[in-house]
Amino acid sequence: MCRHLAWLGAPVSLASLMLEPPSGLLVQSYAPRRQKHGLMNADGWGAGFFDGTLPRRWRSAAPLWGDASFASVAPALVSGCVVAAVRSATVGMPIEPSASAPFTDGTWLLSHNGVVDRAVLPLSAHAESTNDSALLAALIFDRGMDALGDTITGVAADAPNARLNILAANGSRLVATTWGDTLSVLRRADGVVLASEPYDDDPSWQEIPDRHLVTVDGAAGDARVELTPLKGS
Ligand code: GLN
Repeated sequence: MCRHLAWLGAPVSLASLMLEPPSGLLVQSYAPRRQKHGLMNADGWGAGFFDGTLPRRWRSAAPLWGDASFASVAPALVSGCVVAAVRSATVGMPIEPSASAPFTDGTWLLSHNGVVDRAVLPLSAHAESTNDSALLAALIFDRGMDALGDTITGVAADAPNARLNILAANGSRLVATTWGDTLSVLRRADGVVLASEPYDDDPSWQEIPDRHLVTVDGAAGDARVELTPLKGS
């Protein structure tokens, strides 16, 4: 399992989203507060952000807390659309930078928080690694993001024990699912945060119910957050 976060809004630094909040991804890498599976997230991390419509990524297989280079540069990395994650690898999965979210198809950045039996996922030449999350990302990209809800319910039908929280962005839109793990939303004056767990104790954080599709569209300060129930079989 892992913890992930996305931002859509005014340009802000990766440090302000990931490293500076009192319970941000940096702290969640060793002391998550709401994680149901796994104690810490020490098997890598990834920060993805849009530079216009171009996704850029910095990923690692090492713990986020030990990365002094990222801590030094993150205050200068500024974007209006971000997807970041810290990883706790499922037993048997490779630990390598290409297995850390976010994954990309060149248009979207995508993170998976959860686990799924790889036997139900098709092999894909596009998968960035051999872990379940990379195979699932390749399947989602192949089917298209408009079909995300159908893809998730289809995989869940084949793998009833799967946990399938997805968080994706394309520079102007966030799309997420809740299927087996936590996700919260924070509407700020300058944008919207979706995160596996609140990065601080602001009472405005709202928990998103399980088995929902979430979309965030629109300009900073005027964002629309929509929730649609996902029907399981
Ligand atoms: N199943 C995932 C993996 O090993 C676990 C990490 C996560 O929740 N993304 O890649």
